Amino acid sequence: MDEIEVSLVPGDMPLEKAIDVLKESGRSALVAERPDGLALLTSGDMLQALRASRNPDRPVGELQPSATASQVTLPRNSEGILDSPIRRRGLEAAFASGGARYSLIRSGTRARVITASDALAFTLSRSLIICRCKLDPRHHVFEPEDLTVPGKCNFDGQAVNCA
Ligand SMILES: [Zn+2]
Repeated sequence: MDEIEVSLVPGDMPLEKAIDVLKESGRSALVAERPDGLALLTSGDMLQALRASRNPDRPVGELQPSATASQVTLPRNSEGILDSPIRRRGLEAAFASGGARYSLIRSGTRARVITASDALAFTLSRSLIICRCKLDPRHHVFEPEDLTVPGKCNFDGQAVNCA
């Protein structure tokens, strides 16, 4: 099993600020605190929400995580779960039985994603590159692989700046 440490942000953090935190973190996902627990938000979830809502101040905790269906939800006090062989085996069994791909654990001011999927671990560990349109750099935001034509905004064909 892999463990990837990611940023943990309050659910009321504005979307644009959360994207800055994500960019800083060198990962391509972060975890948001919500009233119903922890939610894994990928760069794709966040950039898509910014393009669609055009509201950079939208609380990040309102976003619908794309990967919720494959989450094994752990109790609040699960920080040492991997140190306990029994609980670790239970988690491995949940992942092995199909469907479930990851669990989230609070780790101080950060969060950890535990997963048995090498592909997911690899994706989350990448650092984020954001391509911003010259015409509307706050809302026309993409990852390089989202671009239909490399170097051009999907909405208006203007040049994008990727960093
Ligand atoms: Zn554009």
